[in-house]
Amino acid sequence: MSGLSGWARIVTVATIIAFFVVAFLGLVLSRAVSTNPGPQRSDQCELLATVADPQATVLEPQNTWSNFGYLVAGLFILYRSRTLLGAAVGLNLAFEFLLSSLYHAKLTDAMQYADVAWIYVLLLSLIAYAIQSLLFSQWAVETGYPAFSAPVLIAAGIAVITVIIGVVMGLHKNDIFDSTWMTLVLAFLLFVLLGAGLVAAGIRGAGAMSIVMPIVLVISVGIPTLFFKFSDGTSHHLFNWCCPKAVLQSHSAWHIVSAVLILVAYDFFANFAGDGRIFSFAKPAQEFTITSESV
Ligand SMILES: [Zn+2]
Repeated sequence: MSGLSGWARIVTVATIIAFFVVAFLGLVLSRAVSTNPGPQRSDQCELLATVADPQATVLEPQNTWSNFGYLVAGLFILYRSRTLLGAAVGLNLAFEFLLSSLYHAKLTDAMQYADVAWIYVLLLSLIAYAIQSLLFSQWAVETGYPAFSAPVLIAAGIAVITVIIGVVMGLHKNDIFDSTWMTLVLAFLLFVLLGAGLVAAGIRGAGAMSIVMPIVLVISVGIPTLFFKFSDGTSHHLFNWCCPKAVLQSHSAWHIVSAVLILVAYDFFANFAGDGRIFSFAKPAQEFTITSESV
């Protein structure tokens, strides 16, 4: 069975992305969602647009528009992935684009809950994708086409469960699942899976570049990601780039580099299920999959 390809895939992905762009135009740039007149922010410093224009609908313009990074990352994954859980990661990136935009444009508590919840959903879905790719690559391949088959239904069930767990965790972001720590814990889990993948790749005889390249990418993108994440707003004291009028807000840089980091992680795990890769320097898919022993 082959997945959606050619024009069918382009039209499908374009329709999904267009839906999110329209939702952005209709919800973020309009007055459909009310704005918080006196927001308290500990992670961002961007000068509120209402200082210059009291009627502004987007309170933090740069921190809002930079979320397009998540939509572009989602577009790449939706276009490339031939597995259902891979597509779920792409779709969750598109949702993160919309919900994070809504939070930064409106700065209401409700939107902050939605933003944080979807970061959890996104990371949980990436963890599910990683585990499936590393341990059950054949199952991943069997979810390449929407059909009422057991592999597809189980994968769809898991995708739904990651949404439910992420949303429940998000609702408790201020008590049990603190957003900073929980994000780090989920990122650490991905790091462990990445390490397991590198060991598995080594055992399966992958070339040196296939081992070194993911490490270089994770470190070179991961360090700026952490740096930007923990350097904006009033809550960070170790180093702080809080500057309300800066042309590049640290927090919006975090949106962009974290989107790239998700692509790096997806690309690495995609290898193991022979799923569509993102980066052109990558070796062809299937490299790490066991072909002879699994038959
Ligand atoms: Zn943000």
